[in-house]
Amino acid sequence: MTQNRTAVVTGAARGIGAATARRLSRDGYAVAVVDLDEAASEVVAASIREAGGSAVGVGVDVSDAEQVEAGVARIADELGPPVVLVNNAGIIRDNLIFRMTESDWDSVMNVHLRGAFLMTRACQAHMTAEKFGRIVNLSSSSAQGNRGQANYSAAKAGLQGFTKTLAIELGKFGVTANAVAPGFIQTDMTAATAERMGVSFEDFLAGAAKQTPVGRVGQPEDIAATISFLCSQEAGFVSGQVIYVAGGPLD
Ligand code: NAP
Repeated sequence: MTQNRTAVVTGAARGIGAATARRLSRDGYAVAVVDLDEAASEVVAASIREAGGSAVGVGVDVSDAEQVEAGVARIADELGPPVVLVNNAGIIRDNLIFRMTESDWDSVMNVHLRGAFLMTRACQAHMTAEKFGRIVNLSSSSAQGNRGQANYSAAKAGLQGFTKTLAIELGKFGVTANAVAPGFIQTDMTAATAERMGVSFEDFLAGAAKQTPVGRVGQPEDIAATISFLCSQEAGFVSGQVIYVAGGPLD
């Protein structure tokens, strides 16, 4: 069913995004690997092509409306109408509230919330025309509050409301929208957090694994597998949900 269907994954040059792009390619999608740096996106796209898939690397700052419009038009042109969108691009600018700058706040809102809005607005036109669409937004366990992350937590909670509204508005066009909220995943992002806290990544991972009921931290592929299901044809009755993928219960 997914043949000749195009998926867009933002922030896909590394981490969860790259694993998701690879997974959606294995699921049969042509994949647009979107990231800030087109050369870095192209490295992931090339590895997907080498594995027998179809992919292009596209440089887009998701917070820039013009770049988003141009990037999505190029994707539609080169790969076909994008009917799957994974809003994964993200940054952290952690600080306790008394030290948080306006720039820390605005940068995080711009990438996570404005970026998801702009990408979704550009792609939904293709989904509604095709009468099929799957939107997955990356939220986080931090949506429930996390010390040093007032900006990130607000953005990730905001994405949950955004997701539910998309599900309500777009359902009649065959489009579902869901949020995946990861717990601790081993990526450059959590490595940066360890560095900020002055802890070695190894110790940070061991500490996180101890606090996780399944006794390990998550890997990007754990998140990619959940996204894969939500993007599948058979997930058409799952919409407006927030799925915590955290190795234990969260609600
Ligand atoms: P990551 O390794 O830091 O990768 C994020 C990617 O997004 C990077 O390639 C980054 O590009 C790209 N990006 C940043 N700003 C962008 C923009 N304006 N336009 C396009 N691309 C942009 O992060 P990750 O750990 O894989 O996280 C992926 C998503 O999952 C994020 O939304 C994150 O908040 C969420 N998440 C992660 C965890 C975790 O434990 N890792 C937990 C919960 C939720 P550059 O490298 O050029 O900056």
